[in-house]
Order: sequence, then structure tokens, then C-alpha cells
Amino acid sequence: MTRSANVMNEVQNGGDASIPVFELEEWRSAFGVVAGITGAAGGFDMGLASSESIRQVMARWEDFLEYHSAGFCGAAVSRQSHGAEVHVHRIGSEGVTVESGFDGHVTNVPGVLLGVTVADCIPVYLLHPRTGVVAMLHAGWRGIVAGILERGIEATCELAASRATELVMHCGVGICGTCYEVGPEVLQQVTNASASESGTLDLRPVLASRALEMGLEQVTVSSWCSAHSDGRFHSHRASQGSAGRMLAYIGRPVT
Ligand SMILES: [Zn+2]
Repeated sequence: MTRSANVMNEVQNGGDASIPVFELEEWRSAFGVVAGITGAAGGFDMGLASSESIRQVMARWEDFLEYHSAGFCGAAVSRQSHGAEVHVHRIGSEGVTVESGFDGHVTNVPGVLLGVTVADCIPVYLLHPRTGVVAMLHAGWRGIVAGILERGIEATCELAASRATELVMHCGVGICGTCYEVGPEVLQQVTNASASESGTLDLRPVLASRALEMGLEQVTVSSWCSAHSDGRFHSHRASQGSAGRMLAYIGRPVT
């Protein structure tokens, strides 16, 4: 039997629309972890480099942490560089910790939400269910070529003292293949296939098949597309660069 990735979609929160959030309800019920992504409704922008005042940006982050206050006291994010550096968080901290140069985070500490900001790039969620080790990766085409997925899986296995077969992975909200036309040089680097013309690139199946090749057995993909989601999500491509950012996050709550 050929292993393949199943579709699993994030579910939009109801009621309190002050924070638009889409969560992986199946991971919460099956594994007790909180994983999801913020939306774009009402101009909700979790970007670290927005044109808003620091006060406005921080108020939104405080709202986000307040929303998750049952179980979490801190969040860790980084200014990203489309690279493959993964930060291992071995101690928790309160409030929002902002670092620089990391496109992946992994931790075995409960009570901290690991986050990456995205607007078309694919957020990759990793979990080792037995130990509760979690990881969050930012994977656009540059990061994929740099090896962010492989580095993230390796770091998660190392912290969990586990083999890749025990990991669970989800490729979240991002741009779909139909909406993402790229030049031949990008196609060549990501797919290792010869390409002489522009074409469409679907990043989630690329990530899923690489993970399956590394030995993972439980891989899911979202079918939400950031670029044709009618204002639910931010899309760099669809907005021609003016979009805000969504925060994709994962953490194991303190119980
Ligand atoms: Zn699309």
C-alpha cells in the first residue's frame, strides 16, 4: 500500500469574533495539543513588521495570549529568513519572546505556544504524541530548498529521543497549487525536475511526500487556500504584497 497524506482541515472558532482562529480540533481531542492559525477577519494581523504602531501590534498579541490563557503563559516567535534554522526551546517564558533568524521552533515544555507567521507559505506542525514534543515550521519554497522540513523533523526526533515513524505532521493553511505560478528556476529547485517554463507549484504535497520518505506515517494536509479564501486568510500573492500575516501556532497546555 502506498502511504499518502489525508486531508484534515482547521475549524473556524465560533462566537467571539474578536480573534479569528482556525484550529486543528482533531489534534486537541486526540493528542491534547493546541494547534491552529489566526485568520484575517477584521484586519487581524499578527505580522511583526507591520506599519502599525508597536502598541497596536502588542495589543493584538496580548489578545491572542489572553484567548489561549487556559494552558499557556507565553509564545515564542522569530523574525524569519526563509532558511532552515530551528530553535530548540528548553525552558518556557512568559509573554511574547521574539527572536531572529529562525524558521522553526521545537519544544518539550508545556505552556508555551510556538509560532510562525505566514501569508501563503505553508505552516508545518509536528508532534510526538508520546512525549508531547511539538514543533512549528515556516515552509515556503526557499525554506523547503534550504531543508527546513528535514531540520525540523530531525530536531523533533532528537528532543523526543524518537524515530520519525512516531511523529505526526500536518501541513496547514497556505497557497494552493492552482494559485501559485512560479518560474522554471523555482520549479527545478523544489521538485528536482527539469523545467523550462513557468508552471504551478503545490507546496503541501511536496512537503508531505518528503515527510513520508523520511519515515513518517501520519501526515495530513489542509485544503484551505490562503489565496482564494475570500478574506478569511492573508495572502501575499493575492494581495500583491500588501497582506498582513497569520500566526500558525502549536503548544501543549499546562494541565
Ligand atoms: Zn488557491
